[in-house]
Amino acid sequence: MANVAFIGLGTMGLAMARNIIEGGHRVVGYDMSGDAVADHVSNGGIAAKSSSEAADGAEFVITMLPNGEIVKSVLFDAAGVVETINSSSLVIDMSTIHPSDTDEIRNALSLKNISMIDAPVGRTSQHARTGNLLIMAGGDGADIEKARPVLQCMGDTVLDCGGPGTGSRMKIINNLMSTVLNVLSAEVLTLAETTGLDRNLAIDVMNGTTAGMGHLSTTYPAKVLKDDLSPDFMIDLAKKDLGIAIAMSEQLGVPLALAGEAMSVYSDAHADGRGTQDWTAIYAMLREKYSSLMAAAK
Ligand code: NAD
Repeated sequence: MANVAFIGLGTMGLAMARNIIEGGHRVVGYDMSGDAVADHVSNGGIAAKSSSEAADGAEFVITMLPNGEIVKSVLFDAAGVVETINSSSLVIDMSTIHPSDTDEIRNALSLKNISMIDAPVGRTSQHARTGNLLIMAGGDGADIEKARPVLQCMGDTVLDCGGPGTGSRMKIINNLMSTVLNVLSAEVLTLAETTGLDRNLAIDVMNGTTAGMGHLSTTYPAKVLKDDLSPDFMIDLAKKDLGIAIAMSEQLGVPLALAGEAMSVYSDAHADGRGTQDWTAIYAMLREKYSSLMAAAK
């Protein structure tokens, strides 16, 4: 049994703390909302009146908070975690925050000889309740292994993302994909209905093509990830289809926020002499353009 402090008992944190309790650990919880702390106690947790009280004697101090400023405040301000934390304990920040904040927090903690892993989560509050989160961990490998039994109470998948700050970065990359796809999904379905299509049928169609199945599991492994840019579907044909969709949306008066931006990238690819390459060559073009930045990041 480990002594765990859990700070931030909101939509995600309350359920995650409950799963750690059910995993047989002692969990002292703190939240600025008294109701949240009361819910934690009714789940079998222990109440603290401040972050410093929660962290006192804890082997693991978990934070699950709205943003980086709040994580910093909970750790470093008056009545914060660093007032009581033992240098042998491990801070685990599971919040989604800017990776620069993650780096800043790690550096500030290391000046006090306190280790930290960043371990934000993928999936939803439903998965938080069932203990099936996907956890993206960044930090020293030994610290991730030390935390793994506690992390596994909250998630069915715990990935070591490859070093300090990589969990935080992986989470933002993942959410870039999912947040932009959310807008694209909404726009596409709005256009489908505006042009008189049956929405459920449109969803069935897209779930059976690259549109719904996603490029990362279909066209990318088949083509650009193998450095094969011979055209299964040409850039210029994709550009033509995107142009028709934009023209159709203009006729119907349905604005598309993302399509125009995508068209400018297809136009760049055409101007770059890639018109007859496979449409996944968009990625090859961007990699070529930013190759020195990628090399510097290695
Ligand atoms: P939430 O707003 O429901 O919970 C945040 C909790 O932090 C609240 O209970 C709030 O009272 C508490 N809090 C705020 N400031 C505090 C302070 N100074 N001291 C103590 N407690 C404080 O948010 P959430 O949905 O649980 O999200 C938490 C984090 O998890 C966010 O970074 C979010 O981006 C991330 N996340 C959320 C989801 C989701 O589906 N909700 C999924 C993955 C990741």
